[in-house]
Amino acid sequence: NIKSKEDVYNAIENNNVKFIRLQFTDIQGVVKDVEIPVTQVKKALETGISFDGSSIEGFVRIDESDMVLRPDVRSFALLPWDQGKGVVARMVCDIFKPDGSPFEGDPRYVLRSILKEAHDLGFSLNVGPELEFFLFQIEKGKATTKPHDFGRYFEFAPADLAEDIRREIVLGLIDLGFNIEAAHHEVAFGQHEIDFKYDDALSTADNVVTFRYVTRTIAKLNGLHATFMPKPLTSENGSGMHVNLSLSKDGKNAFYDSQDEEEVDQMTYHFIGGILEHIKGITAISNPLINSYKRLVPGYEAPVYITWSGPNRSSLVRIPAARGQSTRVELRSPDPSCNPYLTFAAILAAGLKGIKEEIDPGEGTDVNIYDLTPKGLADRNIETLPPTLLDAANHLAKDDFLRDALGAHVHENLLRIAYAEWDAYKLQVHDWETNRYLNAV
Ligand code: GLN
Ligand code: MG
Ligand code: MG
Ligand code: MG
Repeated sequence: NIKSKEDVYNAIENNNVKFIRLQFTDIQGVVKDVEIPVTQVKKALETGISFDGSSIEGFVRIDESDMVLRPDVRSFALLPWDQGKGVVARMVCDIFKPDGSPFEGDPRYVLRSILKEAHDLGFSLNVGPELEFFLFQIEKGKATTKPHDFGRYFEFAPADLAEDIRREIVLGLIDLGFNIEAAHHEVAFGQHEIDFKYDDALSTADNVVTFRYVTRTIAKLNGLHATFMPKPLTSENGSGMHVNLSLSKDGKNAFYDSQDEEEVDQMTYHFIGGILEHIKGITAISNPLINSYKRLVPGYEAPVYITWSGPNRSSLVRIPAARGQSTRVELRSPDPSCNPYLTFAAILAAGLKGIKEEIDPGEGTDVNIYDLTPKGLADRNIETLPPTLLDAANHLAKDDFLRDALGAHVHENLLRIAYAEWDAYKLQVHDWETNRYLNAV
């Protein structure tokens, strides 16, 4: 357990580390790194390592591009796979401007600032994500969308061909300090889920980023392509990243109230109320791709309607049955292509607002929403999540609260990227259109 610079120096010595990867993410949550030989580690920890931020998506203009990476010592970990040329460690970094102040476009900084707000109210945030992903075959060096196996939910060999690879990924993650709770085949062909234990929000966001590249790397070493694309196959479930959230106060789960009939503290409902109030704008962050919206459709276990409930799985937000320290709120819309720092930051900001303003989430929906007719939906005032990235971006653009929470820099850049993505997509004539219209008109 590494807590100081001295701990880092000792770990380097004891493990004969040769290189260190300084890890950070761009505004879209894409992992980046700069590798330094260990001879530079002292400099990295004492003064930081300068880099040119101008080519990183969502960072800075060319005239102010000298940014500084400062490693967070607590994130020191050895990379689990053999690199051939000596042991490699990684550290996750915070990003500073040349004048030494934190860079407002650093997703980690954005999350830290909301966590500080929570802290000032006496809360810390625990987050446990459930990442789903596909393993596809590689042919002639190129990823295909041919599933690696034809297993289904919780199936095992021979239908599940990936037991060994899944275990290898799990072992790699354990080496990196993950506390793995479960791994299983998911519903779709070639689809899997690996769950790790909740942790404080910042560590969990670091873990999500690490999880993605460890999974991709180990799949690759096994001749397979791992993808976190939200909906790679038209008629199969997509991949979600359910986010389980709880607040603690004085070391106790603040969502648990042993005296309440449901054993749920009232603030939990307010937290949900805040999330529901801002979910349309949040969706542009938690579901950032054109493809994300092909997952959020009826019939594939992904949420579509803006509702909350108890254990009922058709809802966007659930309060799973577990109580005591495990009392939590599960938000089911995010997908694993999102930037986890910004996604957690936006969710927490909205939830805290809900608590401060005692926002009422309305009636819980305890019927299967997919069984309701359009009239049933209208009678209950049930709204839907944004159907496209364009619609989500328009909601984010109007959401002044989220702009303040994320900061203008991140808000503007997220919108710029989302609209550019939409403009590029809009120009394309898809196979679906040609198949449908070429002969019909
Ligand atoms: N894959 C589903 C989704 O898109 C979730 C399925 C499940 O975990 N029950 O969210
Ligand atoms: Mg799960
Ligand atoms: Mg799942
Ligand atoms: Mg779940």
